[in-house]
Amino acid sequence: MPVWVCATCGNHYPDQGSPPGQCVICADERQWVPSSGQRWTTLAELAAAGHRSDIRPVEPGLLGIGVAPPVAIGQRALVIQTAEGNLLWDPPGFLDEQAIQAVKTAGGLRAVTASHPHFYGSIVEWSHAFDAEILLPRADARWLTRPDRAVRTWSGTLAVLPGVTLIQCGGHFPGSAVAHWAGGADGEGVLLTGDTIFVTPGEDRVTFVWSAPNRLPLPERAVRTVLEAVRPYRFDRIYGGWWQPVLRTGAREVLQASADRYIQFLRGEAAVD
Ligand SMILES: [Zn+2]
Ligand SMILES: [Zn+2]
Repeated sequence: MPVWVCATCGNHYPDQGSPPGQCVICADERQWVPSSGQRWTTLAELAAAGHRSDIRPVEPGLLGIGVAPPVAIGQRALVIQTAEGNLLWDPPGFLDEQAIQAVKTAGGLRAVTASHPHFYGSIVEWSHAFDAEILLPRADARWLTRPDRAVRTWSGTLAVLPGVTLIQCGGHFPGSAVAHWAGGADGEGVLLTGDTIFVTPGEDRVTFVWSAPNRLPLPERAVRTVLEAVRPYRFDRIYGGWWQPVLRTGAREVLQASADRYIQFLRGEAAVD
C-alpha cells in the first residue's frame, strides 16, 4: 500500500488502503485546501508525472535537494555536512533513488529535521533510508502526519552536530525553528530558516508571517521572540525555504532592520502615504 502524499502541502500519511478524508496541515488556518477539494497523490504517481530530484551544491559543505518540477509548497532540502555526520533539513514531499544516492555519496545522515510542519514532507522516508533520528520540537510533534518510532523531541535549543544547533524560535508555529551552522558562509555563520524568517525577493530584507498563503502577519511579541532566539548566534547569511531568494551577506543587521520596520507597520507607525 502506498504512502499517501497531500498534493497541496506534500506531507506524508501512513501507508493504508485509502488516505484520510482531509489533510490536517492544509485544513489549518495557516495553509489551504483547493476549492475543488482535498487532493492526494503518491510517490509513484509523482515520478510517473515526471518529477525528479534536483540536486545542487549550494556552498561548500551544503547540499541542496529539491524537486523539478517542484511539488506542493516547493521547498528544497538542505544537507549540512560535518566531519561527524550530516543533518537533513526541510525535505520536500518527493524523493527518489537519485536523491538517496546523492546523500549516500555525501556521507549519509545522522538526523533529519525541519523548520516547521509545512516542511516535514518526506522526513520519515529519509529517516528510514539512513536509520536517522527524526528531531521534532516537542511543541509541534503532534503535526507529524506519519507517526514513526525514530522521532526524538526537543525544545529550546539542541546541539545536533559540532557547529550545528537547532533553535526554537516560535512564531509561524510554536515549534518553528532555525538551524544555525557555524561553519557556513566561509565561517561567518549561516541560518537555515524555512518559514521562520522569510527572505524577500530582492535578497536584501526579511519578513515574518503567521500564514504565507493567507497573508496573515506575525504579532509583534512573536517577532521579538524570534529575534531574541537567534541573538546569541553569529551569522552572516540566511537560506529560506527555496533555492532563491538567499540573503547572502549582512544577515544579522538586515534581520534587525527588517524587524524594526515590520513592527512599525504592525503598530501603524509607518508613513504609508
Ligand atoms: Zn496538506
Ligand atoms: Zn509554513
